[in-house]
Amino acid sequence: MKLASYLATAGVLVALAACASAPTAAPPVVRDPNAAPLAPMPMNAAMTEVFDGKAMRVILCGTSSPLPDPGRAKACTIVVAGDKAYVIDTGPESWEQLQRMQFPGIRIAGIFITHYHSDHIGDLGEFRMQTMVAGRSQMLPVYGARGVKNLVAGFNLAYEEDARLRLAHHGSSLINLAASPLVAKEFGSAFTGNLDAEEVILRDGDLTVTAFEVDHDPIRPAVGYRFDWKGRSVVISGDTALSTNFTENATGADVLVSESLAGNLISMAQQQMKAAGNERGAQVMGDIPDYHISPLEAAQTANEAGVKLLVYTHHIPSAQVNLPPYFAGVAAVRPADKWVIGWDGLRIDLPAGSDEVKQGELLPKP
Ligand SMILES: [Zn+2]
Ligand SMILES: [Zn+2]
Repeated sequence: MKLASYLATAGVLVALAACASAPTAAPPVVRDPNAAPLAPMPMNAAMTEVFDGKAMRVILCGTSSPLPDPGRAKACTIVVAGDKAYVIDTGPESWEQLQRMQFPGIRIAGIFITHYHSDHIGDLGEFRMQTMVAGRSQMLPVYGARGVKNLVAGFNLAYEEDARLRLAHHGSSLINLAASPLVAKEFGSAFTGNLDAEEVILRDGDLTVTAFEVDHDPIRPAVGYRFDWKGRSVVISGDTALSTNFTENATGADVLVSESLAGNLISMAQQQMKAAGNERGAQVMGDIPDYHISPLEAAQTANEAGVKLLVYTHHIPSAQVNLPPYFAGVAAVRPADKWVIGWDGLRIDLPAGSDEVKQGELLPKP
């Protein structure tokens, strides 16, 4: 896309305007307290289709892991059901990917956090601010197991002054200060750490969202989510090692979005770090394989659970995900048309009343 047309996208213009709100020494003044809210921005054709209510959609908005990858944001997946979007994890840079897609933040009805590692939460403040600028009229629910109240309280405190400054600059026709905060929705009272529980945490029209415990030990609680809508289903793994509860809750899913870690490549990285005298880095590389799932284990999980399409995400190491060693052994257990290497902008459609699983893209494949 040419720079001029890229900058002409509504989302980018909002971002530029938002960034222009620099802190000021003057007391905040609401320019027009009685102004009616401005109408939401019009959606482009691709997004109009995404929200047409004919299919449940899955959109990847971050497919990297804590290790850097310039083409990918960190953990973020969106499920669209009807005219609402639900975000699973808000990893660093994920809002930027949504802006590149011209994703309408006004449609985001809830955020679901799998656990509190930084690569899953870093952009939560951006989601708070950007959906406020997009015209959100109610506080934004953030669902999570124990710990979500602290998370939400912290981000609300950090972004409170930002919201006031933007109100002072843009006025109340654009900024609804009372609606700006995040609101914590804690679940999981039955999650004991035995990695055997699940809980229905949201029913909204035809949509049911179930959280289930996963094995990211010693990170407890850590959960995955299952979305069921009009006979179609999507499961998001969160961060997990191979576990029975993960497989059981993925049973029969149309799409399984699973994290993965290539132990063979991480082991090589560990050896290189040791050779270079980087003992700290080498220890981190040695610690992480036991609380993630390998690509082969994810494929075996998808097979056992009867999943139609396995989508790999949260690639570790992300920069090597397109090299054959990353998926060692997968081709031997699962047909090539039953799995895909996820990228930021991959779109999957699950039409209601059908068994179809259609792949498309909102950003080009890297
Ligand atoms: Zn994690
Ligand atoms: Zn992670």
